[in-house]
Amino acid sequence: MADFQVIRTNDMPSCPRCGEPAAISARLPLGDGIDLFLCLRCDTGNTPAGRLVAILGLPEDQRPADLLPDFVVAWIRDGAAAQGWVWVPGQREP
Ligand SMILES: [Zn+2]
Repeated sequence: MADFQVIRTNDMPSCPRCGEPAAISARLPLGDGIDLFLCLRCDTGNTPAGRLVAILGLPEDQRPADLLPDFVVAWIRDGAAAQGWVWVPGQREP
C-alpha cells in the first residue's frame, strides 16, 4: 500500500457521520486522497473498524500492543476497499 499518515492528536477532525471528534483519522494518498475517520460511536461490530474501536476501548495496559498495527492496517485497507482501492500483496505502487 502507498505511504499513509495516521493521526491522533487532541484536536481531531469530526466524524462525518455523527460529528463527534474522531478517535483516529488517516489520509491515504490514493486518487484525490481518501480520508478515513475512526469513530468510537459509529464504528462498532465485527468489522475492521469495530475491532479497532474495541481494542482502543481497553485499558492501555490490556491492549495487545503487538497486534495494534495489524488492526490499524486492516482498518485502513477496509476503508480503502470501500472506496474501490484493493491492496494486492507483493505489488508496488507504479
Ligand atoms: Zn461517528
